[in-house]
Amino acid sequence: MSRRTRAGDEDLFDTPIPGDVDSALTKLNIEIVGEDAANFRIACPAHFRRKGKEDRNPSCYVHKDTGVFICFSCDFRGPFVTLVAEVHGTPFEDAAQWVGEQGTIDLAVRLLSGQSRARKREAEEIGESHLALFTQPPARALASKRISADAARRFEILWDPQRKYWIFPVRDETGKLLGWQEKGKGYFRNYPEGMEKGESLFGLQALDGEEGVLVESPIDTAVLWTDGVAGGLASYGAILTPKQLRILGGRLNRLVDAHDNDHDGRRERVKTYQHFHGTGLIVRYFDYADLDVKDPGEMTAEQNRAAYESAYHPMMRSLVRFGRR
Ligand SMILES: [Zn+2]
Repeated sequence: MSRRTRAGDEDLFDTPIPGDVDSALTKLNIEIVGEDAANFRIACPAHFRRKGKEDRNPSCYVHKDTGVFICFSCDFRGPFVTLVAEVHGTPFEDAAQWVGEQGTIDLAVRLLSGQSRARKREAEEIGESHLALFTQPPARALASKRISADAARRFEILWDPQRKYWIFPVRDETGKLLGWQEKGKGYFRNYPEGMEKGESLFGLQALDGEEGVLVESPIDTAVLWTDGVAGGLASYGAILTPKQLRILGGRLNRLVDAHDNDHDGRRERVKTYQHFHGTGLIVRYFDYADLDVKDPGEMTAEQNRAAYESAYHPMMRSLVRFGRR
């Protein structure tokens, strides 16, 4: 009788892999009792048979992508099919057929499409040590954006020397590193991909005082600082999340809104004003006047200082404009 419940190592990549290891375990009535970045932890289903007692301190790990498993206590191990054969008490071939019916998809496709559970988890585990790969931006890059080295240090703006990208670390309200934004010529990405940048305002760690200047793009916090305007906070886009609004409300008495000087920016600054109306946080609008510019990054130092100094209360400007007609 050749009931196979084990496959040799050479079989590991020849046997079917369930499309979703997680739900395949559920169908086998195996409870996931824990997990790390790459593996689910389960009670070993072969333990009683092999050791004569239950696996009370679950020591069996199943890889989230490949389904390959190992019990560190009894050394039961193999491809996912072997686990199925053990649980179902069926021959290896039958177990392979069962796995094949569980939405088997090609592992490479899954990894490439970024749907890998294990990879996502690993990417989430961002630590300060990741930033050690980056340097201070070189003088040439600083000059191209018209920001000082001092401003880059203050806002912790870094540089990837290998790829020549700007690196903007994203931290939550407590200063915990969530990831970073990478920007180069015609290139942009958030790392990790699903980073919760809406939990954060760029520049919050450099804020000192109770007045903030709200911009959309992280680099503009440093442009403004270079031009003598402190308090820059960037929302990473026109639309503020409820969390970002809460952070502003909790930290500031005065806000100069320098949303981009375009349709979306003008729409969203009205929302910001309305959100804080009557809350004690005074909102004024950065005065782009009639300049044909998109944001502070396109303005000279003199223009930025003037726009800040003549920031106006939204109602005042409408009254003035109304009066002119
Ligand atoms: Zn075991």
